Amino acid sequence: MYDNNNIFAKIIAGKIPCKKIYEDEHVLFFEDINPVSKIHILGIPKLKCVNFSDFVANNNEKTISNFFKKINMVIESLGIKESGYRVISNSGIDGGQEVPHFHVHILGGEKIGSKIR
Ligand code: AMP
Repeated sequence: MYDNNNIFAKIIAGKIPCKKIYEDEHVLFFEDINPVSKIHILGIPKLKCVNFSDFVANNNEKTISNFFKKINMVIESLGIKESGYRVISNSGIDGGQEVPHFHVHILGGEKIGSKIR
């Protein structure tokens, strides 16, 4: 069940500010407030999706593919495509998910340790 009051829903609605990296009508990328690496960006679809499984199971291929292509576009724009990066999506209790709106973390800008995020 999607919580309309989660913090990322409020960011999408413009009720809470964020440091935007990229935005269009379908997606938003912004800096994580508590970065764990030199580059730490969050990417979210502007949809009521709780987690990765919810997003993939309940959206069409165009929507899913667009989100992943935008992740790649942001990675390129950050200049970390060649140096390397990590894309993570935490889900549920065991996954350590804190915010119940599907999102990916893009980590880079330095060597990422094996157990980060
Ligand atoms: P997760 O544990 O995968 O749910 O990650 C949630 C992430 O959201 C954490 O890395 C937080 O630092 C980040 N976060 C929480 N609130 C904000 C906010 N207002 N702006 C940017 N990032 C946030």
